[in-house]
Amino acid sequence: MHVPAAGLRPLVRGRVLESSDIEPERTTNFGHVFTARPRLLLEPASAEDVAAAIRFARSEGLSVSVRGAAHSQSHVAISDGGILIDMRAMGRIGPVARGASSVEVDAGAIWRDVVRTVLPHGLAPPILTNNLSVTVGGTVSTAGVGVASHRFGTQGDQVEEIEVVTGAGEIRSCGPDREPDLFWAVIAGLGQVGVITRARLRLRAVRPMTRTYYLLYDDVRRFMEDTRSAMDSGRWDHLESWASPSPQGTKPVSGRRQVFARWFFPFHPTVEFDAGSPPDDRALLDGLHPYDHLYTDDLPILDFFERLEPVFDLWKRGGTWGHVHPWMETVLPWERTPDVLEAVLPDLPPSILVGGHVLLWPAKGSTSRSRLFRRPDGENLMGFGILPAVPAPYWEEAKPMLENASRLCVAMGGKRYLSGYVAFDEEEWREHYGDAWPLFVEAKQRWDPDGILNPGFVPLRAAAPARKA
Ligand SMILES: Cc1cc2nc3c(=O)[nH]c(=O)nc-3n(C[C@H](O)[C@H](O)[C@H](O)COP(=O)(O)OP(=O)(O)OC[C@H]3O[C@@H](n4cnc5c(N)ncnc54)[C@H](O)[C@@H]3O)c2cc1C
Repeated sequence: MHVPAAGLRPLVRGRVLESSDIEPERTTNFGHVFTARPRLLLEPASAEDVAAAIRFARSEGLSVSVRGAAHSQSHVAISDGGILIDMRAMGRIGPVARGASSVEVDAGAIWRDVVRTVLPHGLAPPILTNNLSVTVGGTVSTAGVGVASHRFGTQGDQVEEIEVVTGAGEIRSCGPDREPDLFWAVIAGLGQVGVITRARLRLRAVRPMTRTYYLLYDDVRRFMEDTRSAMDSGRWDHLESWASPSPQGTKPVSGRRQVFARWFFPFHPTVEFDAGSPPDDRALLDGLHPYDHLYTDDLPILDFFERLEPVFDLWKRGGTWGHVHPWMETVLPWERTPDVLEAVLPDLPPSILVGGHVLLWPAKGSTSRSRLFRRPDGENLMGFGILPAVPAPYWEEAKPMLENASRLCVAMGGKRYLSGYVAFDEEEWREHYGDAWPLFVEAKQRWDPDGILNPGFVPLRAAAPARKA
């Protein structure tokens, strides 16, 4: 079926590209696992453009996929023969009023730009993800977790109001207290019921400086005790941690010799402070028992928020940014975390982490009200992510290892974080959403009656779009 751009162009103010004019970069995402070519691409100028594209798609029997900065890795942010809406074209921010407690932004705004706009007013979004080059709509549609999640939940929890264009092509406003069913179906909803076009984001006052303690643990249980006590103490503004390999040589793994590592656990608790009033190191660290305290780092708060830029820059310059990224992230029940780490890490080849890393992030379940950001029951939770960069020729070899790690995490009560590479079958999807699955299905049927929005990942169906012959 040929759908000429000329059909959509008169209906919108934004730019419309024909399939053949779309650059290869916009046919894949950071995962580099899936590639798909849209029939048309829209760079919208407004919510009305998005609504017009959705109505046009409905009349033509096309699907509509939404793309932010495309840092996700499964079959998302790409379109197989439908209309792809690239939200980065809508990136306005602010203005920031004096004494503001929130800021209104377009959904395609990049978090780094949001931070740099509000920080001169002594304000920042309560939660920032490690990578600031992503869009507000993209992270809020996934959840958006960060090193302050133990205090503030997800970025989706910090949205006061959103403007959304539903799959029926209607522009609606909603919030946690206004049309909450629509709001909570959009937050962490992977664009299944609507396209976010604007959001009012909560802000908090921040101090201008941060101090980070680089603590190192050689024992997972001691590390867990201290991260839990750090969360409970209420002393820390940000908690960041990792699992870090020290390669030891080779040993037999699954019938052949493979490099293995001894794993250590860096833990970086951070406090904000005013210049001239440095924190009391002894009081802050009292009760923590690291194997070593390697370093103490004072940074202006902007540098702290952007602390991983040099790492991502290195990945780009080293060429691994273009590799396959089948990231496997889970939220684990606290009590099961040591068993999972002891089962997975000893056989994980450290070389898989060239251009990647293993993340751990302690969190509190009650900090989030999101219905679709699935997490295990219980108050103390541990995020666990194996984030490799796999050269394309080794992807088939690495795949079973990551899929096994995913299955193990799920079997141990973990919930996958959906920005990564997820290969669930339908039953696994239903299990993932659990008691939220019927709500999600109902929301899809209600707000995306033709089932045109973002097909190909979550097997949610309303009605199949009627394809024109
Ligand atoms: C280096 C790196 C570091 C990362 N660190 C973190 C981290 O610390 N914490 C964390 O939580 N995540 C992290 N992520 C994951 C990342 O935040 C998510 O993949 C996020 O979704 C990316 O935003 P995006 O703008 O690229 O969205 P995309 O990947 O473009 O889209 C993600 C999903 O949202 C949908 N979507 C996008 N925009 C809209 C919209 N306006 N309306 C409705 N649906 C929409 C898309 O269809 C898709 O389903 C990281 C990723 C990378 C590559």
